[in-house]
Amino acid sequence: MSIAVVEVNRKSILANIEFFREKSPDVTLMAVVKANAYGHGMEGVAQLLDDKVDYFGVARVSEAVTLRQVGIRSPIVLLEGFFPHDDINDLLDFNLQPVIHSSWQIDVLNTIPFPNEIVAWFKIDTGMHRLGFHFDEAISEFNRLASCKAIRQPINIISHFSSADELSSSQTNKQIAQFDKFINSIDSNLIGGQQSIAASGGILAWPDSHRNMVRIGIALYGVSPFNDAVADLQPAMTLKSELISVRKHKKGETVGYGQTWTSHHDTMLGVAAIGYGDGYPRSIPENTPVSINGRLVPIVGRVSMDMIVVDLGHDCHDKPGDEVILWGKELPVEQIAKHTGISAYELLTRLTSRAKIRYKD
Ligand SMILES: *Cc1c(COP(=O)(O)O)cnc(C)c1O
Repeated sequence: MSIAVVEVNRKSILANIEFFREKSPDVTLMAVVKANAYGHGMEGVAQLLDDKVDYFGVARVSEAVTLRQVGIRSPIVLLEGFFPHDDINDLLDFNLQPVIHSSWQIDVLNTIPFPNEIVAWFKIDTGMHRLGFHFDEAISEFNRLASCKAIRQPINIISHFSSADELSSSQTNKQIAQFDKFINSIDSNLIGGQQSIAASGGILAWPDSHRNMVRIGIALYGVSPFNDAVADLQPAMTLKSELISVRKHKKGETVGYGQTWTSHHDTMLGVAAIGYGDGYPRSIPENTPVSINGRLVPIVGRVSMDMIVVDLGHDCHDKPGDEVILWGKELPVEQIAKHTGISAYELLTRLTSRAKIRYKD
């Protein structure tokens, strides 16, 4: 039995899907399940949602192949397309839809002799400046992609925001304008596929960006893409472990590696079996809260590989075997992100396989 557990509430994920369906009823929905579904278990989440969303989004061909191997039937989009050393046959064998962001990818597609086999997503760089065609080359590259024998019409169009979490930034509206300018400048006979620019931040904060498809990553799991939790979302994950020791500790004594914490009072310390070996970051500072028996108590000393120590207070009634919650409904991961300066995205995705995923309904 595993002691550090990632408990995933399926009902919360379904409720979040429902929330987005109601918010944007006419919009096609992609569930982004890359990076082990942000720590929630890619296979389990995809199986839950296979008949409830329109697309899955992943970042690697290997992730997509795993989804097909566990029986996922929905369309799967490779958000970064295929890579230079990927086997192009996987696109055909597993029915995968690549994002096309670079000229070299079109060269590779041109080597496929079979007609109309591949549904593609053309990525335009509207201001993120990471992947995607520059505006001045986009129309000619789009036409080159459209004339590829292997490509099925219509081609879908995709872009990505750099600053959708900054509500007062003008960048998002600039990017929307660039996106529209591109759409309006391509041959109207070639339009008609999906158009997508919004991820979680765009969905929640920029209604003009929804177009006909939205890509929901972190918000699907009930976690905010902004600094603060979003009340309408239900966090799906509870990261938890147990107390394995409750011990007396004298005023003036230190705790843990490097003796970084000294107690100012006689107290009781709790030792919980979770550490950076499970993905709970070593850089988490002292005083970060955990929840035990309905109250918040502070971490003292450094996070070890397999354990943390918490100050339970001198009159505590906690005992070995009691549950310790690192984050969940009662202690939002956004709050831990604020405490630590580590984004909620990273806290979720850095969990290791030693913390076992357990689904509940
Ligand atoms: C990861 C990713 C998303 C999901 O982003 P969230 O902010 O988690 O919703 C959407 N689109 C692309 C291209 C991505 O890489």
